Amino acid sequence: MLFNEFSEICEEIENTSGRLDSIEIVSECLGELSKEELPVFVRFLMGRIFPDYSPEKTGIGPNLVYEAVAYVAGKNKNSVIKKINTGGDAGRAIENILSKKEQTSFFTQSLDLLEVYNDFLYISEVGGNRSQKEKLKVLRRLFANAKPKEARYISRLMLGELRIGIGEGNVRDAVAKAFSVSPDSVEHAYQASNDLGEVAIIAKKGESALAEVKIELFRPVKMMLAKQGSISEIVEEEGSVAAEFKYDGTRFQFHKKGGECRIYSRKLEDVTEAIPDVAKMLLSSTQENVILDGEVIAVDNGRPLPFQYVLRRFRRKHDIAGHMESLKLVPNVFDIIYINGETLIDTPFSKRREILDTNVKDFVAPQIVSGDTDYIESFYRSALDNGHEGIMVKSLSAHYTPGIRGKDWIKIKPAVDTIDLAVTGAEWGEGKRAHMFGSFLLACRDERGGLIPVSKVATGISDDMLAELYSLLKESVISESGNSVRFEPELVFEVGYSEIQKSPNYDAGYALRFPRFIRLRDDKAIDEIETLASIEERFSVQSAKK
Ligand code: AMP
Repeated sequence: MLFNEFSEICEEIENTSGRLDSIEIVSECLGELSKEELPVFVRFLMGRIFPDYSPEKTGIGPNLVYEAVAYVAGKNKNSVIKKINTGGDAGRAIENILSKKEQTSFFTQSLDLLEVYNDFLYISEVGGNRSQKEKLKVLRRLFANAKPKEARYISRLMLGELRIGIGEGNVRDAVAKAFSVSPDSVEHAYQASNDLGEVAIIAKKGESALAEVKIELFRPVKMMLAKQGSISEIVEEEGSVAAEFKYDGTRFQFHKKGGECRIYSRKLEDVTEAIPDVAKMLLSSTQENVILDGEVIAVDNGRPLPFQYVLRRFRRKHDIAGHMESLKLVPNVFDIIYINGETLIDTPFSKRREILDTNVKDFVAPQIVSGDTDYIESFYRSALDNGHEGIMVKSLSAHYTPGIRGKDWIKIKPAVDTIDLAVTGAEWGEGKRAHMFGSFLLACRDERGGLIPVSKVATGISDDMLAELYSLLKESVISESGNSVRFEPELVFEVGYSEIQKSPNYDAGYALRFPRFIRLRDDKAIDEIETLASIEERFSVQSAKK
């Protein structure tokens, strides 16, 4: 497939509002692709270059893209950035800038989908001192050969924002339709393999091939997520339920085969080197080959320390031994999704727990099973007394559903309203904070995956945190105008608020009253932030209470 055809399809989807129409467009193309093209096409459509489980990253920042575009367009970088600032949409701005190039270049070569992918792969692999130069060389060649519309999508892929408005669920349904298999089997295979691209190839072989897809060691799967709710609701629905402490730490997935192990963070990054103490503890806790799910907390004299402490250890690249001494981490294992070649995601939770209890001897999180709300309430109070965040109440019959935030896991914590939002912009600080960002623009997600501003936050951020945020965000600036900057959305903030109000000031149509920074959620990815629909739901629940 030519990259030009891919771009045309993206544009068609971008201009289509109906879900079914988008699925139709995609499913029609899928049947015609080769075995090599199929996974690349599927991942590209979802705005991804590599599989979700893969550690590969292109490492292309906005700066490098703008530099390459400026070179190819024969302009200076600042004028390119200025054009992007005025347009707001980097992809379209780059398309525009490069459309002037077309008349002057005679030797353009048609880009092929696989060739573009191989260039990305090459970029992700080049390391060493000359890596930036080498990456830039490839980007220049890509933009030099790209037609303006192709440049729109190439740059968006590089920046991680395809913005064509086709969600993961729709691509899954298109795969099912194209190969006449059920969306549920595609979903299940995707949950186990964590790469819809590869699942598309398997779907072509039919339903039974999909059913064969299993979880593999050292290929992390997405983590199951929880919803807010109440003890009485879930007890009413389920009768007896399991309840565990809700640990205020960082999620991990532990993979072990013989004496070898790896630990993955919630974003599925390999963090084993940063926490060798935890790896050692878990390795010695079982003889079996397993994948365990749990939460690491930091402890001081047996009491849990706040979440930020753990993150400091997870992010660490240097002086790991020194930090191991000063900050003690403890894993708490609450689930098992693989044992000795067997995938357990379709096994009910009560059975998984039994397998966990039988095969893992240490660090298994305590659990109660009860249908008595008073008893669960008292367990909740003891969780808070022991310094935990609250409790998790879980359906005993539920399967493990990777990446799904369903009502099989309910989180119960004290009633501070908090919300996770993406940081999409900032304003420079004032006075002694003038060299850092002072206030941050926050956005929720819409159902098409777009980011919609809903609040600003400036209170509750310590000077140390402001400095940390500046160092984390300074490389992510896409554009700057006046006192404001826009970021490549990468960071998630958890923000407290007193109320959600209707507001014309933000595109979401809502705003947070008294927003206050609670913490940086750099364990969360952008696609895990709150959706506009759930903000609407919070608003109506709040109105009903009034
Ligand atoms: P939240 O991050 O507020 O959506 O709450 C869900 C998170 O709580 C999970 O992703 C885990 O990181 C964490 N957690 C802590 N304790 C547990 C537990 N016992 N079971 C499941 N998740 C837990």
